[in-house]
Amino acid sequence: MTQKTLLITGASRGIGAATAIRAAREGWRVAVHYHQNSQAAQDVCDAITHAGGQADAFAADMASEFDIKSLFDRVLTHYGRLDGLVNNVGITPLLGRVDEMDALRLNQIFTTNITSAFLCCGHAVKAMSTRYGHAGGVIVNVSSRAAQLGSANRYVDYAASKAALDTLTIGLAREVAMEGIRVNAVRPGMIDTCIHDKNGGRQDLNRVTSTIPMQRIGTPDEVASAIVWLLSEDSRYCTGTFVDVAGGR
Ligand code: NAD
Repeated sequence: MTQKTLLITGASRGIGAATAIRAAREGWRVAVHYHQNSQAAQDVCDAITHAGGQADAFAADMASEFDIKSLFDRVLTHYGRLDGLVNNVGITPLLGRVDEMDALRLNQIFTTNITSAFLCCGHAVKAMSTRYGHAGGVIVNVSSRAAQLGSANRYVDYAASKAALDTLTIGLAREVAMEGIRVNAVRPGMIDTCIHDKNGGRQDLNRVTSTIPMQRIGTPDEVASAIVWLLSEDSRYCTGTFVDVAGGR
């Protein structure tokens, strides 16, 4: 059987790395995208290959349209097919109120969190759609509970970028459903990764724990398991839907 190929953006650490390792266990051949830390990406690939899977690392700056196109060109040249995409790259800004935000900050967040996902979806659709003679595929976007909760007094700009990702998920799911492509999203709550480092890290995470009904923050692997389910045939009748992984938040 031909092995299906999955591209995960931002897969050298955190939720992306956990997803790469789980997906490989489920039989996906994984393209591990990273930005600057090639050693971390190679470590993820090594963990996968040592466990009997297949993975290769690919670099790209997701704030660059040129880099994104080049990433898809390289992945398609290397594997000859693309069956899955996880749009996982994302950044959070410093904690701040709306009257402290400027265009530079907003452009940075929206370019990395939503423009990159739009561009990746476009390339993935070209590579997966039955309209172009391909076998179909599946896209999972990594959104956030912030998209619905708004992140008041933290970063409403980040929340707004994730809300845009939710709308992309719904619209694209409808657009490509008849072309054999499913599009879904996960909405993590507070997850223990270094995305929180610049805003107080573990201290900030511990502070918000009391606001979570389950009274604990989540792990990257708990998000990865939802993503891998959405990638799998087990979720074959789901498109345009969301899985919240947020401890009830
Ligand atoms: P993380 O910081 O470990 O992962 C983010 C990834 O994006 C990193 O691999 C980073 O290198 C990559 N990245 C950032 N800017 C990039 C750029 N310009 N080009 C290429 N790669 C770039 O944090 P994480 O928590 O694993 O985040 C993964 C996703 O989950 C993000 O989209 C984030 O918004 C979302 N999320 C996280 C949480 C949480 O609490 N950790 C909650 C909700 C949503």
